[in-house]
Amino acid sequence: MITTASVAIVGGGVMGCSLAYHLTALGVQDVVLLERQGICSGETAKSGGFVQTHWSSSHEVRLIHWSRGFFQEWAQACQYQPIGYLHVTGAEKEPSVRETHEMLLQLGFESNWLSPREIKKLQPLLRVDDLSGGTYEPSSGWAHPVATTRFFAEGARQRGASLLEGVRVLQIAQRSGKIQGVETDQGFLSAPVVVLAAGPWSLQLHPNPALPLPLLNKRGQVCYMNRPAGLPRKELAFYDEVTGLYTHPDGDTNLVGLDWHFEPVFGPDHYDGEIDQDYLEGAHGALSHRFPSMAQAQPIKGLVGLYDFTPDGHPIVDGPLGLEGYYVMAGFSGAGFKSSPALGLGLAELIVHGQYRTVNLDFLKLSRFRC
Ligand SMILES: Cc1cc2nc3c(=O)[nH]c(=O)nc-3n(C[C@H](O)[C@H](O)[C@H](O)COP(=O)(O)OP(=O)(O)OC[C@H]3O[C@@H](n4cnc5c(N)ncnc54)[C@H](O)[C@@H]3O)c2cc1C
Repeated sequence: MITTASVAIVGGGVMGCSLAYHLTALGVQDVVLLERQGICSGETAKSGGFVQTHWSSSHEVRLIHWSRGFFQEWAQACQYQPIGYLHVTGAEKEPSVRETHEMLLQLGFESNWLSPREIKKLQPLLRVDDLSGGTYEPSSGWAHPVATTRFFAEGARQRGASLLEGVRVLQIAQRSGKIQGVETDQGFLSAPVVVLAAGPWSLQLHPNPALPLPLLNKRGQVCYMNRPAGLPRKELAFYDEVTGLYTHPDGDTNLVGLDWHFEPVFGPDHYDGEIDQDYLEGAHGALSHRFPSMAQAQPIKGLVGLYDFTPDGHPIVDGPLGLEGYYVMAGFSGAGFKSSPALGLGLAELIVHGQYRTVNLDFLKLSRFRC
């Protein structure tokens, strides 16, 4: 195995691979990424891939906006589908949806307010009698999480990074407040900089008990349903505040998700991987309510994964974190994919230049939880 690196990245999900891509684009040599299984074998592979700027925090919205530009630029490689994103609401939640809509307009980003009639015109399959309006982002949609991660990985590899698959990091090594490298099941890799990007496994590997990471893994579910034959379809990525339904087409199926309770999981390798029957029934009920012509849709498969939550639902991207040379990107709280290009770039700039240049990730510092 390679024995030295300038930067060692732990984890080959979309975050670790985006970081490797951007570090090598900035000219960093000898980047080594260590992945215990294969590239994109963790939570990224289960992601719905939604990319929309309708999000609560303006800081995060800026990251998503930048990332959407990246997905547009690399649309083919990331299998980006700019099919439009429609976010509908009833009267109760309308004030908060309008607030986000106004924020997007103030930032100069696209967002169109639609009446129920305009919504029906855009998507004739929808039932709109209990809706008061919604927002529409024509250039949003979804990207393929596995294709995107492989694109990042391949870009990094072509610029000289080593991606070591099937290598498990056992420990991040430090001495006298300084990172030394990583101990793996195949030997020691010496590196002055180590980045922890191990998704729900990050807690297990964090080497600095003096600065605990406030992360809690929770079990989340989505499913895929077939589309009844002959359904006239207008492709859209869609979220419904009334039922909690979210969905987008994916080949001959629709990804169908539902806002649901999340149960804490204390061992990321030991949790119930079977989708809950009541989740499936709830998702089907919400789909049939909002898209009556989809009532015959049948579940094809269920996916159960882990969301690595922080207390405020925003990730931790920070470093050096208590140890010279130690950086963390974790805690994406079930929503990191859409910002992954900007997050990888930002952290790469922090490591290389000591400061952010293109996107600002200061709001993701760990210290915000101690104020
Ligand atoms: C069901 C589901 C749906 C989602 N839908 C969306 C969505 O629509 N839009 C959106 O923006 N976000 C979504 N997300 C969130 C998004 O997918 C995640 O935020 C993102 O994929 C996290 O990437 P990651 O690289 O941090 O983690 P991971 O992809 O889990 O990568 C971590 C990697 O580290 C590796 N690893 C772990 N331990 C070790 C070790 N000891 N040594 C070496 N390697 C190790 C793992 O094998 C894994 O490959 C969803 C998440 C889930 C679970």
